[in-house]
Amino acid sequence: MTDRCNYRCTYCMPPGGVDWLPPSEILTYEEMLRLIAVFAGEGITSVRLTGGEPLVRKGIVAFVAKVKALGCIRDLSLTTNGSLLPAIATELKAAGLDRVNISLDTIDPDRFTRITTCGSLEETLRGVESAFRAGLSPVKLNVVLTEFLAESDLAYFLDMAVRFPVAIRFIEYMPIGGSGLVRGMNPAAVKEKLAAMAGSGLEPAESKGSGPARYYRLPGASGVWGFITPLSEHFCGSCNRMRLTADGRLKPCLLSDREIDIKTPLRAGADDARLAELFRAAVRAKPERHSLCRASGHPGFQRCMPQIGG
Ligand code: SAM
Ligand code: SF4
Repeated sequence: MTDRCNYRCTYCMPPGGVDWLPPSEILTYEEMLRLIAVFAGEGITSVRLTGGEPLVRKGIVAFVAKVKALGCIRDLSLTTNGSLLPAIATELKAAGLDRVNISLDTIDPDRFTRITTCGSLEETLRGVESAFRAGLSPVKLNVVLTEFLAESDLAYFLDMAVRFPVAIRFIEYMPIGGSGLVRGMNPAAVKEKLAAMAGSGLEPAESKGSGPARYYRLPGASGVWGFITPLSEHFCGSCNRMRLTADGRLKPCLLSDREIDIKTPLRAGADDARLAELFRAAVRAKPERHSLCRASGHPGFQRCMPQIGG
């Protein structure tokens, strides 16, 4: 949707920030709608809007309504830091947004501000509450596993999913483009700790949709806990994601620099058949495994996370 963001999370933004794309480089809503319709013709039924922060882009409610009006997208979701959600959660739901993923890495106000640099825990918590109220269901929380996650946070996330129908997903930190000053936590160790805190009974749960998270539940709990482990237990073999960047590149793999430019042909007047062909080429270009799987290390990526969308 955009590479712009109102937060500067230390694990996501490079230290010097991002040189924002000039508006002329960013796909217009009309261009995105055309591409979504073409991709739907190739079997896409699920779309997730992300960024940067997708809610900083003006006109998003009307865009959501237009995507839904295409009639071919069954599951329309949005990944957000939650800060701007309270003002438009109800409108987004009415426009046809099905659900949201909200990033919430800690529930300690000071640590939250240290992670996000300019964010406030209170506004993100209000965002979570507004998502529940608006009926954007299921609400999923994304928790990146960094040194900022304390045992008190785990206790909060444990209790929250016992009481509310929420999916809390712990995401392994990926070393791409962030400040480089952040240390990730081992997901297996966090899972062990969570299981110990839960007492006996944390058991595998059915996965939610087609996503990469492995879920766990406790008998009687309203929600579930999930782990997304792109590095320590990669899921490349079952990955069905295709990313479209704000500047119109198809990315067959999050952790690869390989891109297919679809914006240039689109703006040069390519017909739907040509655009569909490019989409199929991007699907064929999905690697067997991402490049961080290689033991030889990695020289770094061209894009940082806000330019991809996570
Ligand atoms: N601004 C929105 C947000 O924060 O939810 C959407 C964009 S953000 C790039 C999408 C997701 O990527 C967020 O859940 C964020 O926590 C996650 N993310 C960003 N940098 C990451 C990293 N280095 N490793 C793992 N997840 C990361
Ligand atoms: Fe912005 Fe989301 Fe990245 Fe944080 S994680 S800097 S909110 S894009």
